Amino acid sequence: MADSSLLANGVSALFIDGKLSEGRAGTFPTINPATEEVLGLAADADAEDMGRAVEAARRAFDETDWSRNTELRVRCVRQLRDALQHHIERLRELTISEVGAPRMLTAAAQLEGPVNDLAFSADTAESYVWNQDLGQASPMGIPPRRTIAREAVGVVGAITPWNFPHQINLAKLGPALAAGNTLVLKPAPDTPWCAAVLGEIIAERTDFPPGVVNIVTSSDHSLGALLAKDPRVDMVSFTGSTATGRSVMADAAATVKRVFLELGGKSAFVVLDDADLAAASGVSAFTACMHAGQGCAITTRLVVPRGRYDEAVAVAAGTMSSIKPGDPNDPGTVCGPLISARQRDRVQGYLDLAIAEGGTFACGGGRPANRDVGFFIEPTVIAGLSNDARPAREEIFGPVLTVIAHDGDDDAVRIANDSPYGLSGTVYSADPDRAAAVAARLRVGTVNVNGGVWYSADAPFGGYKQSGNGREMGIAGFEEYLETKLVATAAT
Ligand code: NAD
Repeated sequence: MADSSLLANGVSALFIDGKLSEGRAGTFPTINPATEEVLGLAADADAEDMGRAVEAARRAFDETDWSRNTELRVRCVRQLRDALQHHIERLRELTISEVGAPRMLTAAAQLEGPVNDLAFSADTAESYVWNQDLGQASPMGIPPRRTIAREAVGVVGAITPWNFPHQINLAKLGPALAAGNTLVLKPAPDTPWCAAVLGEIIAERTDFPPGVVNIVTSSDHSLGALLAKDPRVDMVSFTGSTATGRSVMADAAATVKRVFLELGGKSAFVVLDDADLAAASGVSAFTACMHAGQGCAITTRLVVPRGRYDEAVAVAAGTMSSIKPGDPNDPGTVCGPLISARQRDRVQGYLDLAIAEGGTFACGGGRPANRDVGFFIEPTVIAGLSNDARPAREEIFGPVLTVIAHDGDDDAVRIANDSPYGLSGTVYSADPDRAAAVAARLRVGTVNVNGGVWYSADAPFGGYKQSGNGREMGIAGFEEYLETKLVATAAT
């Protein structure tokens, strides 16, 4: 398959039971958020399509040796990585145009990182200790031989958002499939093509048996709820907002299925009073603009010493006003568009609220003057709000940084933890022991100390509190997709 043949006729297909097919509900458009132009059409699935996909995944799990054939699984996951790498330039253009992802990020977490990271899932499956001898014991005076077997959970329903579609789709597909599960992926309606291309590539370039992977694009969010409710689905792996995560958890309760949730965040960037304030504030401001702030783990609260508050605001505003929202195609662009008009209006609503609650803008505050087309918002620094204000507490998901004053290390920890979320955090200090002590007290799943990068295929990622449960990536992310069976055999 040549690169150009991907999505060749401008309409993407569903991928169900090994076949590319049309959606029973017709098609829906996918939009370039930088230009507002229709890129093309995606197959629109209805409930019956979703039912067929679940049935196919169930059959592939129950009636084939997929879950027990590690060699086949490792081969298929490696084939998928190789095929995606083969198409990487076409995928890069697609990611820039459908997601509005800045080109520079496609060399990392937006595309190439997660594609390469499929190797970690395959390698883990290959070297994993699937059966472990628990040794001798004599429960009730009877000495059995005991083995712990790790097995696939079964059929996984994967529901994903639009902000890092390849990262999130592949961080679920890779480990779930390598671990022996079958899967139905329901991507966000905003980025159907990033998921649909996987179906085309799997169909044409890999040996995945029919039904093992199914990809169901739809304009209808309720198809996600169907997956969460379906008794034929053993596990739902969800990434998205906390509100939707709550609903997924409730829908899954009736069938007591395993629920793995990666949800929202409102992470703090804590600057202690011995740190280089200007350097830290600049880094914090730059990070808040990446991909227009549409990252769940971005540190959107800059928590700085009260005596140097104005200085921190000035540095952050200087950095953010120098970052112009721009064409994601341009290799220099850091801050592209938001995904949709709806998302832009939501962010603008929070900016209006910041003023209503007594805050001020040190820079930004609305749509950029020179961009009438595209869903752009100016990088914005909000000053003058406490951590109790809604724009300081709620996830905005735009290029917006709120600067909050602290009165020492204990107060900084209190503010950082005073959040319903617990996804990530950053600490800057000249004293490594002091930084480590603060990092240890943060109730979050990942911490960056003085610029430490936590994102990596072998590193678990996930949240405390209402940022979710479970971990994606790393061995922990692989084991999310495993059951544990203890077999006791009477000693002869
Ligand atoms: P969303 O919650 O609106 O949608 C996520 C997915 O859920 C989509 O596929 C959507 O169609 C589906 N969905 C919607 N309603 C559903 C329902 N009732 N039942 C089942 N599925 C349903 O989120 P979004 O706007 O697409 O993405 C942004 C959110 O994702 C942010 O809150 C962000 O923090 C979060 N996110 C979290 C992580 C993480 O790893 N923690 C990573 C990326 C994004």
